[in-house]
Amino acid sequence: MEYEADVIVVGAGLSGLIAAREVGKAGYSAVILEANDRVGGRILTEEVIAGMPLELGAQWIGDTHHRMFTLADELGVETFAQFEDGETTYEINGPVQREEQFQRENADELGELTRVLATIDEFCEQINVEEPWLSQNAAEWDKITAGAWLDAQGLGPTARTMIEICTVGILAVPTHEVSFLDLLYNVAVCGVTAELLAESEGGAQTTRFVGGTSEIPKRLAASLGDAIVLGAQVQTIEYKDGPTSSVKVICRNGVVAHGRQVVVALAPTLAGRITYVPPLPGIRDQLTQRMPQASAVKVFAIYDEPFWRADGLNGQLISDLGPARMSNDSCIADGDVGVILAFLEGEQARTFGRLPQDELHRLVTEELARHFGPRAAKPELVVSGEWANRPFTRGCYNANMGPYVWTNFGSALAAPIGPIKWGATETATSWSAYMEGAVQAGQRAASEAIDAMS
Ligand SMILES: Cc1cc2nc3c(=O)[nH]c(=O)nc-3n(C[C@H](O)[C@H](O)[C@H](O)COP(=O)(O)OP(=O)(O)OC[C@H]3O[C@@H](n4cnc5c(N)ncnc54)[C@H](O)[C@@H]3O)c2cc1C
Repeated sequence: MEYEADVIVVGAGLSGLIAAREVGKAGYSAVILEANDRVGGRILTEEVIAGMPLELGAQWIGDTHHRMFTLADELGVETFAQFEDGETTYEINGPVQREEQFQRENADELGELTRVLATIDEFCEQINVEEPWLSQNAAEWDKITAGAWLDAQGLGPTARTMIEICTVGILAVPTHEVSFLDLLYNVAVCGVTAELLAESEGGAQTTRFVGGTSEIPKRLAASLGDAIVLGAQVQTIEYKDGPTSSVKVICRNGVVAHGRQVVVALAPTLAGRITYVPPLPGIRDQLTQRMPQASAVKVFAIYDEPFWRADGLNGQLISDLGPARMSNDSCIADGDVGVILAFLEGEQARTFGRLPQDELHRLVTEELARHFGPRAAKPELVVSGEWANRPFTRGCYNANMGPYVWTNFGSALAAPIGPIKWGATETATSWSAYMEGAVQAGQRAASEAIDAMS
């Protein structure tokens, strides 16, 4: 139950797996300690029906997720394009309308929305993604919530609702829960608002993986051989800084690993639950006290065929009634089976996500029938994926920051503390919150550990 390696990696999510791989490529040894009985963390493909992988966790990559495309290529995982032909349906301040009618009737308000998104893009140009707290206007933007800023833009009710739904679709918390600086940072690390919100070229949700996203962590893990210890929940990290820095990592089940450096590749709130000896500086602990995981639940409704496509619909809904505020066509490439994925995010996940599963599934199915017709009322199966109850994730998609967190504590997010380096997507400066960010953060944390040993 004792391991020894140059670098001990905590967490076999994508970030930790990548960090271990980079350490190996540089000629050093790595051991990964993973609390769960599987690798992948927030990536979780489940084959509920044979040949029908469902992505309970991460599902898509976008055109600018270059690290993920390269990784998939290296691992031999093929990709396919997200289906998006047809109209979206809208249920905002009234009954369900198809896209063409909704856009015609709300042209003025949608114009206002475009103006506000352009302002956000303009502000994002001022965001320093490496050190957001040093951005021009950081203090001003960090003391108000994103919701308060949006409320002050003079948007009509439809436009305000639309931007709330789309923003909660990214952050998975209400806009009044994050600072405006945090919203700008989340957009800036991805490019511009269109990259985040659009599903078309350049968006974050253009491409999926054949066989399921879990193929990526599974194949990465296979390439690392026996360097991964499952069921090893890290409880304590003892560390010594200086020219002969060292770490001793102790797990709940008695496993102990000794190394020169440690990469902690966990969401900040989970990293904050580990005991560090000596204790970490106050700023780091106060940061992890203030970075909660967001709230999202995915609900898949499975049908004998994707019947909505024949009606000229793309399977996407936007609704202020719910329970789901958004949905997607989630069929696999070349499959006959129809799958709609409904998203519950922020408050929707917290209220409806806590209902008994049968009731949640009934309410989601009723909503799908309002948008896609009576056939949607009779799915063959409904499957949902919840994350707050999973002890080694405790919410998703990622962590977020309320007012004053970036400016008062942000500098402690990724800064190494002696031999401790911080991985996980939350510490990325490109596509943070996404798999792309997890890869970038894993590479950065590994290179910090390698530099310290060279
Ligand atoms: C429902 C959902 C949908 C998503 N959709 C997308 C999407 O479509 N596209 C996209 O790019 N991203 C998406 N994401 C986000 C993406 O999954 C994450 O950004 C990424 O997987 C994070 O990887 P990570 O390695 O940083 O963290 P994690 O995956 O959280 O890995 C951390 C690992 O550490 C382990 N661990 C926790 N505590 C301990 C401990 N004390 N000791 C040892 N091990 C521990 C965990 O079990 C886990 O394996 C989604 C996430 C979810 C949950």
